[in-house]
Parts: sequence; C-alpha cells; structure tokens
Amino acid sequence: MTRPRLRDDLALVEGYHSPQVDVRVRLNTNEAAEAPPEAFTRALRDQLGGIAWNRYPDRAAAALRARIAEIESAGRPWSFTGRNVLAANGSNEILQSLALAYGGPGRTALCFEPSYALHAHIARVCGTVVVERERRADFTLDVDDALAAIAAERPSIVFLCSPNNPTGRIEDPSVIGAVLDAVESVGGLLVVDEAYGQFAASSALELVDESRSVVVTRTFSKTWSAAALRLGYLVGPEWLVSDVEQVVLPYHLDAFTQLAGLTALDFADEMAERVRGIVAERERLVAGLDDLGVEQWPSGANFVLFRPSGRSGDEVWQGLLDRSVLVRNCSSWPRLDGCLRVTIGTPDENDAFLAALAQILAG
Ligand SMILES: *Cc1c(COP(=O)(O)O)cnc(C)c1O
Repeated sequence: MTRPRLRDDLALVEGYHSPQVDVRVRLNTNEAAEAPPEAFTRALRDQLGGIAWNRYPDRAAAALRARIAEIESAGRPWSFTGRNVLAANGSNEILQSLALAYGGPGRTALCFEPSYALHAHIARVCGTVVVERERRADFTLDVDDALAAIAAERPSIVFLCSPNNPTGRIEDPSVIGAVLDAVESVGGLLVVDEAYGQFAASSALELVDESRSVVVTRTFSKTWSAAALRLGYLVGPEWLVSDVEQVVLPYHLDAFTQLAGLTALDFADEMAERVRGIVAERERLVAGLDDLGVEQWPSGANFVLFRPSGRSGDEVWQGLLDRSVLVRNCSSWPRLDGCLRVTIGTPDENDAFLAALAQILAG
C-alpha cells in the first residue's frame, strides 16, 4: 500500500500547540477564570427539551445572528442587522472561512508579527501565500512600512489584531484607518481580530459599512466565559457575509450551540460587569509587576506580556509551574525573546501568580 501523501505545501507548516497541563492556577490561554453565571446554565438546561434533535438546525442561525447584531449595535448611532453577522464554531472557523473565501492559491495574506499565530497558519492551510512583516521593537505597527508592504504585495487579506495577542497592545484607530485605506486601494480585505475587543475602549466596528472592505471578528471564548462552547462571529458588510456563506458547510452551527449562544446573550449586563472587574484586576496585576521591576507592555486585553530580567524565560516559566502556576511561555517565539504571557485570573489566582513570581525573582 502506498499511503496518501500530505499536500506538499502543508508538509512545512508547523502545527499549533498550546500545552494543557493540570495545575492549580491556570493562566495560559486567556480564557475567563470564572464559569458563566449559574442562571445561564439553568436557563440552558431548561430549554434543551425544546430542541428538535431529529432535525437539522436552522441553517442560517437567524435568531442568533439577529441577537448578536442587536448586542453589537448597542450604544452606536446606527444598527447592524443579522445580515451583517455570520456565526461559526469559534472565531477560528470564522478566520478559516474568510481565508477560504478571499485567500487561497495565487493569493497573498499579509500579517504583522508578532501577532496571533493562527492568522498566518490558517491562511497557509487554505493555500494562501503568507507575507510576514515586522512590528517595531515596542510592538506598535510601523504605518509607513505597512503601507509600503500593502502597495508592494497587493494582498487579498491583511490581518490586524486589536488588542493584539500576544502583546496586548491596542491598534490606534488612526492606524487602522490608514491601513484600511491602503488595503482598499489594492482591492483587498482588512480583517480585524477583536477576540479581546470588549476589554478595549476602541473598536474597528465603527468602520464597518457596505462601502468599506473591513470585517471584525469576535468570540464567546474570552469575554463570554464560554471557550468550551466554540462560538465566534464576524460583523461585516452584507456583501461579505454573502461571500463567506458560500464556503461554510451546510448546517455547520449545531442547534445546541445556537441555543447556548442566544441564551448567553441574555446575560450581557453581567458579562459587561465581569469585563470591568477583569480590567480592574489587570491594572492591579500591572502595578504588581511594576513593583517587581518587571518589563511589560501596555495591555488592552485580559492578559499581560512581560519579560523578567536577570532570569531566562524558561527558568521563570518552570519556577511558576513548580508553584502550580501555568502561564504561556513565549520566550522561544520569534521576536519575543524571554517573554511570558499571563492571563488575568481571579484575585486569588493573580495574588498566587505575583507571590510565586516574587519568590522566583528573589531566589
Ligand atoms: C483566543 C483567540 C481567538 C479565539 O478563537 P476561538 O476559536 O473563538 O476560541 C481568536 N483570535 C485571537 C487573537 C485569540 O487570542
């Protein structure tokens, strides 16, 4: 037997790894530290009997999309409708669908590193040529370089991430505006990944319009305390939603996920309150890192990137793990020499992290 051979262009693509280790304090994947409200779980359980399990789910997920549009329109001078929204199994499936619709063989995607590794990865898996440009040393975007790269590469897709994972930095609205103008001038699409958008003061949702080539992606995995659910969505122009609908599989979003998403949105006020609490804890953790003299970067998300001095990243990561605190070890990633990323947890978890770090740095 001759085994089928993996596509040649995939043989060199590295997988995506995030170790799942059993520890007391888990601050490595930017999930919410707390479970969703008990009332949510109860409401969901009460509705399960209403699902027609023998039937395919609503293919358009119309109710969920309409409700997401309503939530994302709150406080804005205009309203999105369900036709501006597409929901999928995590925002990663949304990113993949965008790459399938607008990337692919013969097309280019442009990324500014360091950023979310899955943008480049997903684009490559979809057969897209990926061009990676560097951010400045402080992880801000060099706009002149970005505009030059867009003019030279004429990408079909440009990825931005704001707040950016893993740096935490928010992309200034003027920067996003300048990049969008350039992307439109070469007929491309700007994808702004806002997985952490609710933690930040500004959003590219302001730019979403039928006449503009920008789409914003968001997720229930971080703010909505529902990483296990696998639900994400995009907000974009109607023409884009129609395009992307061409590549998603029929009935890709199951009835349970649609119901759980709809039910979660009934708890929007509680979630907003939690976001405020996480932001307050972030500021406390930032101050704690400051007290320890640790280098860090301003974060608009639910995590902080930091670089302990005088010790290697591996050493500090292992020291934390020995004290049952797991953070993300970015120290061997390109451009992130010696850096670790810590998710904001509960006050107790953040205390445990700061105490463990203080011990390691004093030791
Ligand atoms: C966590 C994260 C996602 C979320 O992916 P899901 O598939 O929705 O869980 C997307 N983008 C970024 C930048 C993230 O950090």
